[in-house]
Amino acid sequence: MSQYDYDLFVIGGGSGGVRTARMAASFGARVAICEDMRLGGTCVMRGCVPKKLLVYGSHFHEDMEDAQAYGWDIDAKSAKLDWPSLIAKKDVELSRLEIVYRNLLLNAGVALIEGRGSLVDGHTVKVDGQEITAERIVIATGGWPTTPDVPGIEHVITSNEALDLKALPERMVIVGGGYIAVEFAGIFNACGVSVSEIIRAPNILRGFDEDVRDHLRQEMEKKGINILSDTVIESIEKIDSGYNVHLQGGDVLPTDLVMYATGRKPKTDGIGLENADIKLNDKAAIIVNEWFQTSNPSVYALGDVTDKVNLTPVALAEGMILAHTLFNDTPSVMDYENIPSAVFSQPPIGSVGLSEQDAAKRGEIDVYVSRFKPMKSTLSGRSDQSLMKLIVERASDKVIGLHVVGPDSAEIAQGFAVAMKAGATKAQFDTTIGIHPTAAEELVTMRQKRAEPV
Ligand code: NDP
Repeated sequence: MSQYDYDLFVIGGGSGGVRTARMAASFGARVAICEDMRLGGTCVMRGCVPKKLLVYGSHFHEDMEDAQAYGWDIDAKSAKLDWPSLIAKKDVELSRLEIVYRNLLLNAGVALIEGRGSLVDGHTVKVDGQEITAERIVIATGGWPTTPDVPGIEHVITSNEALDLKALPERMVIVGGGYIAVEFAGIFNACGVSVSEIIRAPNILRGFDEDVRDHLRQEMEKKGINILSDTVIESIEKIDSGYNVHLQGGDVLPTDLVMYATGRKPKTDGIGLENADIKLNDKAAIIVNEWFQTSNPSVYALGDVTDKVNLTPVALAEGMILAHTLFNDTPSVMDYENIPSAVFSQPPIGSVGLSEQDAAKRGEIDVYVSRFKPMKSTLSGRSDQSLMKLIVERASDKVIGLHVVGPDSAEIAQGFAVAMKAGATKAQFDTTIGIHPTAAEELVTMRQKRAEPV
């Protein structure tokens, strides 16, 4: 008989925590999990899922314009979005998903404890005054939006509130140039809001391939988003008709709503990490070794709280690997290479592997780039362009970077990610027969290397 109440206690019922708990229980471990908000965490309740539903919801105006251009007898101009109705429907879906998550845990035999967990020591968690012991503890508390210390910051919203707005503003300022900022700029712009995106850097999406950054920016601007680069906010002033955003240099931008999407920080405050001697890095993320073990050997951490690759599928994979390692006698470590990702901007981005800039640092490369008008836009008369780009390692002929900006790019990238994980070469891409007429066939018919810069 174990000296502990459970074999495993998981703090945090988001994607990573729930997956770890379920998998461990399926291998026979006695598992408990605690959560103080809604089950499902950021991805399901405050991130990927509601965001994607709003991306779908916002896109219909463009679809109606296209339908009209294709001969449908409708008046896209007069179509109006009932925003509160969209939000209410989204909320119904989130409630359904919360129940699904609850049932997944209960059916797997995981004890669900509703409340905030904090460490008492390396084997004890306190939830609402009750102390529970476990042989091992996993911290999967995720992250939370962070905002800089600017005068008037108390007036702004973050992505958390943006997903629950009661009404759409007429004008909106979105601060930041990362994933969340460009995704929400796309959503609100497509809903008819006049959006200004303020970025302190010269361009959006730092770290992405330069062609991708430029291309998306142009497409966002074509759709009417006003991107102000190299722009720093000095203060935000509440006025009767909304807010005045004061910019460095003296300009003032009047608006109805200000949203900050300036990054997220690991949720490591107030969970008793100091009681178990858990070490953090300079960004307040929990430091773990390749086995997800913290500086306290009985305490593990995974997902956004470790600030490695902050994506839901990564947290899911980490949870699976940890459960297999601890409770299924099949230890393995996580492979962080070739993780595909998408940005659900409008148009979206799908990416696998390295940017051209990062690839060039590793050795000699060949680059293939194609820009074209999506077929659907011929009849609809849109001026949008898609971008496809391959980066090939010259020595091995392996495709080490693949980037798509345009409709369905996330779906396209997911398929090609399998090929790249398997080490596909450019020659193998070239011998793959295209599917015609698709956009994705472009990726297997790229023959012309881009000329090297002189
Ligand atoms: P990011 O780290 O991606 O971007 C933060 C942005 O805010 C950058 O443009 C940064 O500018 C800017 N910024 C930071 N500090 C300041 C400041 N003090 N003043 C002005 N601007 C500032 O964060 P996000 O919040 O967009 O997203 C967080 C994470 O969530 C992402 O990294 C991603 O891992 C995940 N995510 C993934 C999604 C997906 O897979 N589709 C969707 C949404 C989120 P600069 O470039 O100059 O540093």
